[in-house]
Amino acid sequence: MAAQTPSYSGGCHCGGVRYVFSTDSAPAQWPVRRCTCSFCIRLGARYTSGPGARLEVTVQHASMAASYEFGTQTAEFFRCNRCGVMLFATCKLDNQRFAVININTLDDVEQLSLNTVDVDFNGEHVENRLERRRRNWIGDVSVRYVNA
Ligand SMILES: [Zn+2]
Repeated sequence: MAAQTPSYSGGCHCGGVRYVFSTDSAPAQWPVRRCTCSFCIRLGARYTSGPGARLEVTVQHASMAASYEFGTQTAEFFRCNRCGVMLFATCKLDNQRFAVININTLDDVEQLSLNTVDVDFNGEHVENRLERRRRNWIGDVSVRYVNA
């Protein structure tokens, strides 16, 4: 039997939205990107993904999920409606959902040794952007609502 994939839990501030991020790569190897666009700078968000990773999200109530789109309108940013924390972004490509998580929402983020780099995707062509996400983002994403 294959060893279980290491997983890392996270969530918003109030507990309304929780998730489990599973990946075989060690935290020091994660690509941690501090996006320098005007939206992410305001949030202070840092993102990670990984093509072999998995993201399972549990939302306590459908009314707690809010999303926001801007720019090329190709990604949706999910936040908790109650506490306002932005947890992850998703992008749908050929009916497959891809995601990146805001690693500042991991429960043990202070305990992980992470290498953060600043990135600037301004001016990137939409086709390149979508291709990059298909290559790099988490390709196995599920969102479950406990109460509709
Ligand atoms: Zn919340």
